[in-house]
Amino acid sequence: MQVNSEYLHPDKECLSREEIEALQVKRLQETLRHCMNSPFYKKKFEEMGIKPEDIKSVADVRKLPFTTKQDLRDTYPFGLASVPLEKCVRLHSSSGTTGNPTVILHTQKDLDEWANAVARCLWMVGLRPNDVFQNSSGYGMFTGGLGFQYGAERLGMLTVPAAAGNTLRQIKFITDFGTTAIHAVPSYVTRIKEVMDQQGIDPRKDTKLRILAIGAEPHSEEQRKRIENMLGVKAYNSFGMSEMCGPGVAFECKEQNGLHFWEDYYIVEIVDPETLEPVPDGEIGELVLTTINREAMPLIRYRTRDLTRVLGRTCPCGRNHIRLDRMKGRSDDMMVLRGVNIFPIQIEKILLQFKELSTNYLITLTTDNDNDNMTVEVELASQPADSVALAKEITRRLKDEILLTPHVKLLPLGTLPQSEGKAVRVKDLRTVYQ
Ligand code: AMP
Ligand code: ZN
Repeated sequence: MQVNSEYLHPDKECLSREEIEALQVKRLQETLRHCMNSPFYKKKFEEMGIKPEDIKSVADVRKLPFTTKQDLRDTYPFGLASVPLEKCVRLHSSSGTTGNPTVILHTQKDLDEWANAVARCLWMVGLRPNDVFQNSSGYGMFTGGLGFQYGAERLGMLTVPAAAGNTLRQIKFITDFGTTAIHAVPSYVTRIKEVMDQQGIDPRKDTKLRILAIGAEPHSEEQRKRIENMLGVKAYNSFGMSEMCGPGVAFECKEQNGLHFWEDYYIVEIVDPETLEPVPDGEIGELVLTTINREAMPLIRYRTRDLTRVLGRTCPCGRNHIRLDRMKGRSDDMMVLRGVNIFPIQIEKILLQFKELSTNYLITLTTDNDNDNMTVEVELASQPADSVALAKEITRRLKDEILLTPHVKLLPLGTLPQSEGKAVRVKDLRTVYQ
């Protein structure tokens, strides 16, 4: 089959560091000029005395103001647009639990570039036009739906907009259509496998599945390995967020050694969330992204709240786009219990080392006698010989990791609530937070 590789930007994927930075400076200057059309940025830049010509190197991005989710809410719905509304062809909105929702606007060019970015990610992990791509993630406002739909179509694959849920139908599609690749949130992939087991379907024998894109929620390396072994596939971490379009911001390559962030689309910074100063490579900090090829709504130094670290700027795959570690979580996901900072992913990492456990778990925080307590409920994948001993061993290993002793409850498979979108892992019922 003749492949149109125009959208793959093979030249841009393998640019040298100097070439990447030269492109970034050029695109950042253009972005700043363009942002002057947004009243929000115009005012900010004028107050700070910033001119596009002041940007002479990528490091000069630090002269620019940060943008926060609160800014998006305060300017709701269209206050951050840098083009007239009639140039926009789509918006995505996220509800958020407090205050105004946020709105991200797109021109046709933005949608095209977005599809190109997703296609580039999918090509990178070995998908080709003869693959059948089933998108088992929510459609509608959630960008994982349309984002992957257009990206997979752009690559030329037969794309099945299955959406999330109706697991029996998902499995029928997988077997009937010869699905070779799926995109879904990791927690939903494990649900599909559970139902396959109930149906007596062996994914290795009865399906053509070979590649999965998993993302949209934090997950551990252990979770990925579980998914790969369960289905006999390769599972690649996909990172995105609505504010940056959606999926296609970063993806693992076949080396599976971190997420390549596309630096011809974004300038990547990792900063200390307190001081907002850059942290050295290898140290964990908050991911800050600047869009450098967006038309409707460029965002300057957007504080994502996601915590990660730089792993490297080269890769055996030949791409020099920066590699970041899988997300440790969002700063808002951090639980502080008795003065100890804990991320749900630390708990997941330990639980999934036990083959007797399934991947479905729930952490509940309570206050008992003025003390913070944690209960970890986890479903069993198989009946252990001695469940008391198993719970004890899990408790011990968790204590080593999080430095306090949780109450561990082992539950039969299918007892905990199942989510088809992003999994809810923590229930905070502590009185101080009510
Ligand atoms: P949304 O804009 O609703 O799609 O949510 C974006 C957020 O989902 C990001 O800021 C991350 O917190 C989270 N997220 C997306 N992809 C990943 C991933 N691969 N690993 C961890 N967290 C992710
Ligand atoms: Zn690579």
